Amino acid sequence: YFVTPGQFAGDRVEITGDDARHIIKVMRGKLGDKFIVSDGESREALVGIEEMDGTCVQAAVIEELEMKNEPRLAVTIAQSLPKGDKMETVIQKCTEIGAVSFVPFLSERTIVQYDAKKEGKRLARWRKIAKEAAEQAHRNRIPSVEQPLSWKQLLATFSDYDAVYFCYEKEEGSQIGDALKLFVARALQEPLARASLLLVVGPEGGFTEEESRAAEAAGAVSVGLGSRILRCETAGMAALVCALYESGEMG
Ligand code: SAM
Repeated sequence: YFVTPGQFAGDRVEITGDDARHIIKVMRGKLGDKFIVSDGESREALVGIEEMDGTCVQAAVIEELEMKNEPRLAVTIAQSLPKGDKMETVIQKCTEIGAVSFVPFLSERTIVQYDAKKEGKRLARWRKIAKEAAEQAHRNRIPSVEQPLSWKQLLATFSDYDAVYFCYEKEEGSQIGDALKLFVARALQEPLARASLLLVVGPEGGFTEEESRAAEAAGAVSVGLGSRILRCETAGMAALVCALYESGEMG
């Protein structure tokens, strides 16, 4: 379970809200039962239940654990807002695989209407999905889910990353595997080195040529993901697996 650093002070942890209900009602927790808590930043521990009532679980630290389930290559998925609940699928699956952050954005061919009033509720739901997927995947950190950005705002963030790959279905030259080999050899050669990578994925109708030029001008490398056209919700997952494989996270 993920808790705030405030709930996880010294050798005690206090769990409330949905997580407490999950322990009590779903897991049928009993005194002495053990589980893992993380503050999502710097601390993870095996704890045992000491006290509980209907809404709150108090547990004591049994053993501090090493936080070792986060990849050295921090991959952010920038996803042009897809239709329906596909963004939820992207967040859930890419959290399991190992993405550290999600940035939804609007591009020229984004089909869905962006309703700023409904955004709060949707963002809260996406963040809950990231938390639950992080828990089930035994991640040490919950990936962040940012507010949707405009295309221009997204371009302005490119300089925050060590590399940016613009996934472009019309790219016939550079393929993601070749680009990654060069990048990993340069950025992750030292055993303790860390690096960041932004993967930019288009909407159902793809990117325009103008967007492709703008992305390259802002510092992105245009990459193909093979000769098959992937669904917009599949492309980020495929690119993420390539990145984490190449950086040594998958063997
Ligand atoms: N029409 C389908 C859909 O509704 O999902 C396919 C959409 S595809 C155009 C969506 C995005 O996935 C593209 O803009 C690109 O970012 C990425 N993508 C899909 N296949 C790709 C490939 N072979 N190479 C590079 N990027 C790809």
